[in-house]
Amino acid sequence: MISFNVPPYVGKEQFYINEVIMKNQKLSGDGEFTKKCNKWFEKRFDTPKSLLTTSCTHALEMAAILANIEAGDEVIAPSFTFVSTVNAFVLRGAKIVFVDIRPDTMNINEELIEDAITEKTKAIVPVHYAGVSCEMDKIMDIAKRHNLYVIEDAAQGVMSTYKNAYLGTIGDFGCYSFHETKNYTMGEGGAILIQNKDNIERAEIIREKGTDRSKFFRGQVDKYSWVDIGSSFLPSELNAAYLYAQLEEPETINNNRLHTWGIYYSELKKLEEKGIIQLPHVPQHCKHNAHMFYIKCKDLKERTELISYLKDNNILAVFHYVPLHSSEAGKRYGRFHGVDEYTTNESERLVRLPLYYGLEEEKTKFIINKIFEFYNTFGLS
Ligand SMILES: *Cc1c(COP(=O)(O)O)cnc(C)c1O
Repeated sequence: MISFNVPPYVGKEQFYINEVIMKNQKLSGDGEFTKKCNKWFEKRFDTPKSLLTTSCTHALEMAAILANIEAGDEVIAPSFTFVSTVNAFVLRGAKIVFVDIRPDTMNINEELIEDAITEKTKAIVPVHYAGVSCEMDKIMDIAKRHNLYVIEDAAQGVMSTYKNAYLGTIGDFGCYSFHETKNYTMGEGGAILIQNKDNIERAEIIREKGTDRSKFFRGQVDKYSWVDIGSSFLPSELNAAYLYAQLEEPETINNNRLHTWGIYYSELKKLEEKGIIQLPHVPQHCKHNAHMFYIKCKDLKERTELISYLKDNNILAVFHYVPLHSSEAGKRYGRFHGVDEYTTNESERLVRLPLYYGLEEEKTKFIINKIFEFYNTFGLS
């Protein structure tokens, strides 16, 4: 069976975890490896502050607290996304206003955002789907004119850029995921990047259960106490050590994924040229990280048949997301603004192909051959 995903492992992860256990003897958060990871993001991505978290979900929850989201506020987001993008704001009492996506990138359609703004709107949450950036210039301009926060869900976008700026460093807050299905991993984990220095101190407090413990460790206060709301958002050193090994050689993972993505793209282009399938679009000014390779079939029926054909050939291909606005909770906590022209239709056509660090070229070619075979069988190509 060709797996859909295999968590990345570049070599030193075991060694660093061993160091945490045997040498550092500090397993809880904010030790040597957490600090190294944070410094790495701050330096490499040129951003004032990075704080590792237990997940991207938690990074988004921190962002919602930092943006002072309250009951009755509205937050604009795409419906074609993972639940955590919006759950973080619903937990603060916000209502989600879903906006349609663009069919070419599957990202929120920046042209539709402004019309969805009301006097209750507090934030826009762009999701960089498949590690391909949303139109950030336009989104930042809207946010500035309407005095809104921008919280980037860059779970899939670590190492991707928009006009040379790293995703996650453009909005007020950027949220990363290091779940095992993402490009860089620590099993479960994430990070929040903070652009405005005024938010840093409060972020440290929220992340440390609402206490000023971080200041205490730096010797800035002589005892720590409860000063704000918060939770336990800091990960263990064991997880951070795993991640750090991958951050030491980011290109190893990035180049390998881009290589596989390129093979898929150039081969499957032939089917696209015949009008049989559609391939992902990466705008000129965006550099992506090959987080995902997907194709779009004609319709839901063809997609179901393709996934089952691949499964019969020991290939695990998957689809996502069921649009949030049509889910049970989505109806309760959100509303769709405007017309759902693409969200539902495009999501029903999309299939994700196996793509992970170290996926062998023979396997990639085998998968491609099976896709051609599928369309030949149906007399389509
Ligand atoms: C994976 C993912 C998340 C959640 O990440 P966790 O680290 O598992 O909490 C959020 N948003 C998007 C778009 C994702 O792909």
